[in-house]
Amino acid sequence: MAEPQQQTPSFTDDDAIIKAALEEAHIPTLMNCLVHLTGDAQIIRGEIRPVLEFFGDAQGGISEAQQAGIRARAFEILTAYRDGDGQLPPDPSSVQVSEMVNFLIGQEVSAEYGDFLTAELALHGEDAYAQPGFETLSDDAKAAFKVVIIGAGMSGLLSAVRLQEAGIPFTILEKHADVGGTWHQNIYPGCRVDSANHMYSYSFKPRDWPQHYSRQAVLKDYFAETADEYNLRPHIRFETEVTDLIWSDDEGTWTIKVTSADGAAQTLTANAVISAVGQLNRPKWPDIPGQERYAGPSFHSTYWEYEHDLKGKTVGVVGTGASAFQFVPEIAQEAKEVRVFQRTAPWMAPVEDYMQDIPKGKHWLLNNVPYYHAWFKFAVFWRNAEGILSAVTRDPAWNGDEQRSIGPENEMVRELFLENIRSIVGHDPELFKKCIPDYPPGGKRILFDDGTWLRALARDNVQLFTDPIVEINETGLATGDGTQHDVDVLVYATGFEASRFLWPMNVVGRKGKVLEQHWDGDARAYLGITIPHFPNLFCCYGPNTNIVVNGSIIFFSECEVRYALGCIKLLLERGERGMDCKEDVHDAYNTWVDAGNAEMAWGISHANTWYRNEKGRISQNWPYSLLEFWRQTKAPDAADYHFV
Ligand code: NAP
Repeated sequence: MAEPQQQTPSFTDDDAIIKAALEEAHIPTLMNCLVHLTGDAQIIRGEIRPVLEFFGDAQGGISEAQQAGIRARAFEILTAYRDGDGQLPPDPSSVQVSEMVNFLIGQEVSAEYGDFLTAELALHGEDAYAQPGFETLSDDAKAAFKVVIIGAGMSGLLSAVRLQEAGIPFTILEKHADVGGTWHQNIYPGCRVDSANHMYSYSFKPRDWPQHYSRQAVLKDYFAETADEYNLRPHIRFETEVTDLIWSDDEGTWTIKVTSADGAAQTLTANAVISAVGQLNRPKWPDIPGQERYAGPSFHSTYWEYEHDLKGKTVGVVGTGASAFQFVPEIAQEAKEVRVFQRTAPWMAPVEDYMQDIPKGKHWLLNNVPYYHAWFKFAVFWRNAEGILSAVTRDPAWNGDEQRSIGPENEMVRELFLENIRSIVGHDPELFKKCIPDYPPGGKRILFDDGTWLRALARDNVQLFTDPIVEINETGLATGDGTQHDVDVLVYATGFEASRFLWPMNVVGRKGKVLEQHWDGDARAYLGITIPHFPNLFCCYGPNTNIVVNGSIIFFSECEVRYALGCIKLLLERGERGMDCKEDVHDAYNTWVDAGNAEMAWGISHANTWYRNEKGRISQNWPYSLLEFWRQTKAPDAADYHFV
């Protein structure tokens, strides 16, 4: 990545390479870079005013002629910079940076966003999510405080990096044989990240991603590389599954029981536990009778069994969520026939570059032009940050049917999505009808599509069935219309036991309180992180920390880990052993979260969704802005806790 303030130019490439790269430039990003390169803020004060809309033109509506003008000017500036001494003008002032932010995102952001956006922009590589202050604590106190992290996926590795920086010893327990969590477990055909990849990155580890939405193996490598770069592997015990977590008030410690790779039970002790087990990894099997009767090969999408050659086979797929959405188009290319069984149709957003490689020129810009990476990442972040949150929030003045749309913006999104479906499968009225969801956009996860899914459904060898599956039997599935569907291979793309947080671990807190009984099917936590009666237990991706249309899960984990580190710091500063969230603080917080979710498409919609738990409560999602979560989790307030 281009380092700011370098002493020599960051590239020496010839004119042809620069010209070609500029063809791929994101013009608003490039214009901000030109301000850095020239010190001339007038560049962004002219006629060109980009409009950054979620579904809009990626160039912010800047005309072709204006783009050509900027490219020509950029060529002059970049070649002069290349041929010069590499010195940049003094940094823009903070007022100028705000102006550049407003220019890039096409709106005046309110002052309350100031700190948050400056941190996120990190122009000089500032570490916005580190928890400061550990350097003032005694080394002995830090060395004596032991943390166990459960899981070596995205959040677990992140926790380890932060604890290492803080000088706190830790051990990671990982049930799999390698790091990567979801990116290790999910290897189904076509698996890729469905958050914009420049946003789905650790803040401290930017990456020149090969695709806008990279494939599973790339993500897996990224996390493996993190483990190696920070030398985390010596701290990880692989193939070690945690069975029990038991808190002792007398000792002020957690006892962690594990089953190791050789099957032996062992016990560890820690002052604090960070649960980084994710929400989406324990497969959920459908409540359809007869699954055990099926005689052919069958498996869940999250544990794909590649040993079954699908060539020439008839494959049955149960489910049309984010996983099926990615693998059905892939397997349709080799199977004789794919029979897809849909209970609820997904809404999908047209995303043109969903499967595209990042072009060579764009790589060049990201890697060579000073500040291009930071501003580009920021543009992607903002576009997806508060994104279309308002479009999935109820408009109180809306008189329409709320199972169709919940406000004018939501209706507009619905029309846009519907038009996209029509443009691809509209020629087949029967298929088109099956593809129209009967709930408002945002009622379930909105999938990203460049047309691949719908084109797959329209293939001659793919059929979409919407009659309910009434049973699974020896040879296949029977649907409610009386049809027997014989299949050679059956794939369950039926999702995860998402709302059973921390399950199947047996977690016992103060006075013998058992977490599963305490929650009774309705998991809650304060900030999604701490749970009354379970001191020094910090959750990543806990209750109500999933997002539907804004941000990335990495953003949330960074906030959660910063908060957990803040709690550990508080314990060490105060010389306390344990901190237990106050019930009234926790309850008031959850009431506020529930009120927020009640106004969102997923809270209003009657559609089946993993966002809702068995009690009918939205236990997965965060309904507010990223700014709100960032602010609330910046540092713990000691007044929210009893010290035990
Ligand atoms: P999912 O979204 O929960 O989808 C499960 C599917 O199985 C749904 O279509 C569901 O229908 C269907 N189903 C469940 N029980 C059924 C039954 N008895 N009869 C018929 N159909 C049944 O699971 P997923 O696709 O694995 O995705 C889960 C989440 O993982 C996603 O929302 C996303 O957050 C994450 N994910 C991310 C990526 C990525 O980033 N690349 C990829 C995959 C998954 P209903 O809709 O009617 O319940």
